[in-house]
Amino acid sequence: MTLSTAPSSATLAQPFASTSDLKPIDDRPEVSDAEMRQAVRTLLIGLGEDPDREGLIDTPKRVVSALKFLTAGYHQSLEELLNGAIFHEQTHEMVLVRDIDLFSSCEHHILPILGKAHVAYIPNGKVIGLSKIARVCEMYSRRLQVQERLTAEIAKALRRFAPASRRGSRDRSFSHVYGHAGCTEARNLDAHQFYARRF
Ligand SMILES: [Zn+2]
Repeated sequence: MTLSTAPSSATLAQPFASTSDLKPIDDRPEVSDAEMRQAVRTLLIGLGEDPDREGLIDTPKRVVSALKFLTAGYHQSLEELLNGAIFHEQTHEMVLVRDIDLFSSCEHHILPILGKAHVAYIPNGKVIGLSKIARVCEMYSRRLQVQERLTAEIAKALRRFAPASRRGSRDRSFSHVYGHAGCTEARNLDAHQFYARRF
């Protein structure tokens, strides 16, 4: 019988690094599109393919462009995204946006994470334009992610832009993300459904 080991409390206590804490894009080494395409070509050869056959000839170009699209969130910031979309409003009723489609990529395999997010917060003098809440989810989804961090980053963004003035403000926003992780699904592992919630 194989016993699975529960993660230690030290492991559980480790915070997930935020994708917002990354070095600014300008400080990272520059890699050209040509170098990226060459890397994909190498990958194809390593997989046993002939990158020069008709069906694959443009694959490196397509892969680079698809990955750039799927990780475009690295080039966006919350400040830009929410600029002009925060309004003063004296309401304290919960705002809930449900069933926001998510398409992200797992940072361990660069394979799809498909899911939905429900996001809620209780305004305290400020509200965020509703469509922007979906855009915040999209921005964090379009980065290499783990479900837990994606969920936490969405909740943190709401807390930052619709902050509560009282103690206990952490209770005033939450995000709840669920769906399928393609990387585990593709490998026939049981744990491909996930559910993560952050208050
Ligand atoms: Zn994965």
